[in-house]
Amino acid sequence: MSKKFNIIKKYITNEDLAVSHRLMNIILLMGLFISPVCLIFDLAIGSAIRSAIPLIFLFLLFVVSFVLANVVKKANFAGIVLTVVSTNCLVPYLYFRDGGRYSGMPMWLLLSSVFVWLLIKGWAVIAVYVSNIIVYAGIFYYEYTHPETVTRLADGQAESIDIVCGIYVIVLILGIIFKFQSKLYEKKKAELEEKENELMEINEKLKKANEAKSVFLASMSHEIRTPINAIVGMNEMVLRESDDDNVISYASNIESASGTLLSLVNDILDFTKIDSGLMEIIPDDYELYSVLNDCYTLLELRAAGKGLSLELVNAPDIPANLYGDEIRIRQIITNLLTNAVKYTDNGSITMTVGFTENDTPLYLSNEDAPNERLIDLRVSVKDTGRGISETGLKSLFNSFTRVDEKKNKNIEGTGLGLAITKQLTELMGGRIDVTSQEGVGSEFTVVIPQRAVGNATMGDFSERFRRKKNAGRKYKVSFIAPEARILVVDDLEVNLKVVTMLLKNTEAKIDTATGGEACLKAYESNDYDVVLLDHMMPEMDGMETLKQLKKSKKYMAKRTPVVALTANATLGAEKIYLDTGFDDYLTKPVKGEELEAMILKYIPEELVKKLSQGDENEE
Ligand code: ADP
Repeated sequence: MSKKFNIIKKYITNEDLAVSHRLMNIILLMGLFISPVCLIFDLAIGSAIRSAIPLIFLFLLFVVSFVLANVVKKANFAGIVLTVVSTNCLVPYLYFRDGGRYSGMPMWLLLSSVFVWLLIKGWAVIAVYVSNIIVYAGIFYYEYTHPETVTRLADGQAESIDIVCGIYVIVLILGIIFKFQSKLYEKKKAELEEKENELMEINEKLKKANEAKSVFLASMSHEIRTPINAIVGMNEMVLRESDDDNVISYASNIESASGTLLSLVNDILDFTKIDSGLMEIIPDDYELYSVLNDCYTLLELRAAGKGLSLELVNAPDIPANLYGDEIRIRQIITNLLTNAVKYTDNGSITMTVGFTENDTPLYLSNEDAPNERLIDLRVSVKDTGRGISETGLKSLFNSFTRVDEKKNKNIEGTGLGLAITKQLTELMGGRIDVTSQEGVGSEFTVVIPQRAVGNATMGDFSERFRRKKNAGRKYKVSFIAPEARILVVDDLEVNLKVVTMLLKNTEAKIDTATGGEACLKAYESNDYDVVLLDHMMPEMDGMETLKQLKKSKKYMAKRTPVVALTANATLGAEKIYLDTGFDDYLTKPVKGEELEAMILKYIPEELVKKLSQGDENEE
């Protein structure tokens, strides 16, 4: 019993064999069993040995085909041998011997041709089938022209019995084959369904893990931003108020280190957004000079600190105002400049900004503004630094991959900057190229489609920058508003102190509250022009506080602007705050200038006294 099952397992249910091979094994095993039984039966009822020769031949054919398919492992070849010999030789011989078209033989011709399609793969099917057509046509023609060559069965009754028996046997064989095929199909379908369910489960788990990752990263970013806010804010006060060169130099170092820490947090957040397909390009009008100015100013001191010259050359006729995603353009340029400064030990860095007219924008459709000019903004950053090896160039844009690590082991980095730069560039329909030679330097070039807004040109950057620089660099408060009253709400004392200090020079009256309850109380008893409200606070958080505040009669009468001041900088955070009912949104760490600008935007004009460049109002 177990032996029988072993044979079935090995030759029929074995999943390693092709379906046609397994089907052939069913036919061969059936043939190997049935043909000797028939032979013995024939001889037992007294048939002449001559008439049993085809059965012996058929048995041998089954043996040879079985060996070819399962020992020599040439299943297709075995199928060809089996079908060619049986359809073109054996069955035609039996046709003439056992009654021709007046018996069940035509059905056997048909069945043997069906096997051709079931057992053979590839072009051989067509070849064998065509040979069948020719042989069968020959058989019928020869039978028609030489009817005497056909040995008719004994009488009409024998012919009818032969036809009926043929129908039974053929239907049985075809039934077994179809059952086998449909069993296989059902099994495969069940397996696929199981796999699909498993995949769905895995997918669900991955989704959850990804959500957990995003939540973790968002809260990590929040937690890190909160202390950075204190460091940056307090440090800004030190820089503003100190005249001691040593102290200023220490504070400058703190400023640059906290900047690095912040950009690391931002990089990780950005990478997560891009990775999960959530990064959005948000185009708007912007001033190119202001972007270049910010990038240049950010890196100028760092380059000078390493004894490097940083030069910015531009095409003076470049449009002054563009339409595109200013924040991402700024990020791309800053990344390239930061790398150039990081990986250059001496010499110079040259940033070249130019443009070409572009008739075929990739991501900015000009359908809604057909008269505006489309350009390819081209920014290249060339350095005389360490350069990149040929192997390094191959994996340069992979995330979390730092190249030439041995050479650059003294330089801090995460290997995220260029991956983000490339993906942002491509999201905007642009491209990035790099050429580099070890020991000589590198040049990174980005080309990004933008729309020109208006006809004004930017002029020479260096010239404008020099003029502005000479106008004075030290911090100056931009306005004073001694009559204005501002309420700052945050659960951390240090954050309250930072905002109070940063707004000190505006002379506005600043009140603080360390939680939602305290905020509502203060709001009821005083008249505020702006409320700066933190989100994550224990007990009553910022959202709830805002809800309660908006319910108060006082708010309904005055509608004091409420600005969210939060360490939550995740994608979509701004929209969430604005949708909740905040009037505006500021992220921590907050800069003095940003804070002043926000306050200026919301306090009544009659309370503000703007200060011109010349007004001295420093402490
Ligand atoms: P990080 O600088 O944080 O390691 P990046 O993704 O910005 O990550 O850069 C990846 C790698 O590319 C760096 O580790 C560095 O080896 C190489 N690289 C990038 N810019 C330059 C450059 N201007 N000169 C030489 N090597 C560079």
